[in-house]
Formats: sequence, C-alpha cells, structure tokens
Amino acid sequence: SDTLRLSGVTKTYNPGKPTAVEVLRGVDLAVAPGEVVALVAPSGAGKSTLLHVAGLLDTPDAGQVLLDGTDMTRLSDRRRTMARRDLVGFVYQFHHLLPEFTALENVVLPQLAHGTPRAQAEARALDLMDRVGVRNRATHRPAELSGGEQQRVAFCRALANAPRLLLADEPTGNLDPATSDRVFDALMVLVRSTGLAALIATHNLQLAARMDRVLRLDAGHVVPA
Ligand code: ADP
Ligand code: ADP
Repeated sequence: SDTLRLSGVTKTYNPGKPTAVEVLRGVDLAVAPGEVVALVAPSGAGKSTLLHVAGLLDTPDAGQVLLDGTDMTRLSDRRRTMARRDLVGFVYQFHHLLPEFTALENVVLPQLAHGTPRAQAEARALDLMDRVGVRNRATHRPAELSGGEQQRVAFCRALANAPRLLLADEPTGNLDPATSDRVFDALMVLVRSTGLAALIATHNLQLAARMDRVLRLDAGHVVPA
C-alpha cells in the first residue's frame, strides 16, 4: 500500500469566524514507498498546513490521513503521537539542531529517546553521516558547521529512527544555489538508500524537476504540476 495517502482532507483555520481561512478544500494525494514527490506552492497556499496534517502534527477537519494503510485520524492522540515518532521524519528550512550538542549527539539523542541502545545509536548515526559526507564533522557543534553541513546533519537526525515517511519544508531554502544542489543530492542519497517515501515542499522548480513527480497545491487542492 501507499506510505502516505490523503483523501478528502479539509482544514479551515478559525472556522465560523470572520477571520476564517479555508486552506485545504479536499486534498487527495498518495506517495508510494521509495517515491520522492515535490510539492510546489506559492507562499501562503497552505503547504506547511498540508505537511503538518500529513505528518500528524495537526488534525484535519475532515478526510483521511493514511500512513502505511492505517487511518491515523481514527487513533487517539496518544497513539497518533506514537505513530508520528515511529513513522515520520521532518526536515525544515532551518536545521533546528540543538546548539549545545555535537552533530553526532544531535543524531543519537532521538534514537535514545526511542529506546535504542547508545552503541547502536552511535553506529547508525555515523553511518548516516558518512553517507552524506559529514562523518568527519561528528564532534563539531552546529555553530561550527557550514549551512550545508548543518542541513545534512538535520537530514541524518530526521532519518535517525528509520521513519517510513520523510516530510521536508524547503529543506534547502536558506542555502545558496550551488550548496542547495549538493545538499539536495545528499538528501536523495539518503532517501534512495533507505527506500522511504518523501514529500518535499520547495519553491525551487529545478529541484522539483529532479524528483519523481511534481504536485502543485492550488486553491486548496493538490493537482499534478
Ligand atoms: P504556506 O506554508 O504555504 O506558506 P501555511 O500553511 O503556513 O502556508 O498557511 C496557509 C494559510 O493559512 C495562510 O493564509 C495563513 O495565514 C493561514 N494560517 C496558517 N496557520 C494559521 C493559524 N494557526 N491560524 C490562522 N490562520 C493560519
Ligand atoms: P561554507 O563556506 O561552506 O559556508 P564555512 O566557511 O562556514 O563553510 O566553513 C568551512 C568549514 O570550516 C566547514 O567545514 C566547517 O565545518 C568548518 N568550521 C566553520 N566554523 C567553524 C568553527 N567555529 N569551528 C570549527 N570548524 C568550523
């Protein structure tokens, strides 16, 4: 089955008030295992809302959010939170690494929280960091890394607990074009080598064109670009 499937998903902020904003008006989309899908949307179109609903950080007003075939909207809040920690990895425009910890610790900590023994967590972290060329930065703190290195470490952290779905919101948005290209290549190496599904929101049409499929969020609906 699809890793992610949204059916008829709607979301309105401030419903029933004069300030109501109807952001999602019946979103249908599916991402298969191993597939990398670009989500292109003008600013304010609702891309963050869509990613938060898909990643179980927010609940839709109506519709279904299926992860690995299970309708997450039917779960209790507690089970949904557990499912999010097991199944979803997030990457944002800014790395949000913990500044007082090393790059390695930033990738190890989520695994310890997940119950992975330290030695195993460190081995996995170093393997992920090796694949994107930042293993030699393991003992650096985030402030001692270049912007591209910070994002690579953030990718490793997002994949630390082996999620099934990666959701990324402008993952290269704060990098210069050349760095952005190389960091995107690194992300693709990780995604392709783990076989997870990825939905990547970006304004960068050149990056979008390198993904398997491009979707557009327009007037509250998702359509092929
Ligand atoms: P994007 O990520 O595409 O820029 P967002 O999903 O952040 O768009 O926001 C879509 C629309 O919903 C915007 O008009 C925004 O102002 C509005 N919005 C987002 N979050 C909230 C909120 N918590 N309360 C009210 N309106 C919101
Ligand atoms: P870029 O030109 O790619 O933005 P920087 O000039 O920020 O990179 O950094 C170049 C290299 O120096 C990077 O590999 C980074 O890890 C390292 N570096 C940057 N700042 C520090 C620091 N304060 N301490 C240790 N290493 C650093």
